[in-house]
Amino acid sequence: MGKLAGKYALITGGARGIGAAIARKYLQEGAAAVALLDYDAEQVRAQAQALDETGARVMAVPCDVANAEQVKDAVAQVCAAFSRIDILVNNAGIIRDAMLHKMTQAQWDQVLAVNLTGTMHVTQCVLPLMRAQEAGSIISIASIVASGNAGQANYAASKAGMIGFSKTIALEGARKQIRANTISPGCIQTEILDAVPEESLQTLIAKIPMGRLGRVEEVASLAAFLGSDESAFITGQDIVISGGGTV
Ligand code: NDP
Repeated sequence: MGKLAGKYALITGGARGIGAAIARKYLQEGAAAVALLDYDAEQVRAQAQALDETGARVMAVPCDVANAEQVKDAVAQVCAAFSRIDILVNNAGIIRDAMLHKMTQAQWDQVLAVNLTGTMHVTQCVLPLMRAQEAGSIISIASIVASGNAGQANYAASKAGMIGFSKTIALEGARKQIRANTISPGCIQTEILDAVPEESLQTLIAKIPMGRLGRVEEVASLAAFLGSDESAFITGQDIVISGGGTV
């Protein structure tokens, strides 16, 4: 039996990259069902189909996490279908890089709206159900960039905000057996890196002590552990997965 046997999970940004890998791992570990919330309706439906062609264990829900009304509707659909949510993975995230002196207001606002406010919207909608269940694990995908990286003031602020947010939810939820932790990956091979110029990518890899990018499956394994009862006494933590890299 897998470590997530019988558990119901909701994963934002699950249409590709780290989110899709977490969904795949959760299904391998016996999750009862997984809901994927993602901005791109076509892509999220295609990913759900790819993960489970019977459609019995994967639910695709198109949703912009930055939009509070859409999140309310999406989470209500998932609650109605699953009746419980054991694991929430706040994974949806974007980058809009620029040095601060060149950063537009729109670049700042978009990144904060999706990464930080989106995490708040989804968590706030899922919490009442977790409180009623007196159980739940909330995992938010932050980044080692939370401690600062030139050209990413918006992204660093959003990820540092997610860590503070998660530590607070951990304190507020503890009495109800709701755990909240962040995972801070270093550089992981996904499409989000397509926006990074090749030369900058090579410089990034050169700074990683293990000399390579991380794999989505490695982040998914950690997310499975944090979602499972094997981590039942771990809450309020930020766990770095970076091959020894800082930034
Ligand atoms: P990807 O860009 O590959 O996937 C992100 C997913 O989130 C996409 O499916 C995207 O949809 C979706 N998404 C974006 N905006 C929204 C939104 N407003 N509402 C709902 N879904 C949305 O990224 P990764 O898999 O690489 O990253 C996943 C998370 O991990 C992010 O939070 C990222 O910041 C974090 N991270 C990634 C690292 C890396 O090196 N890859 C390192 C550290 C942290 P669409 O396709 O429509 O844009």
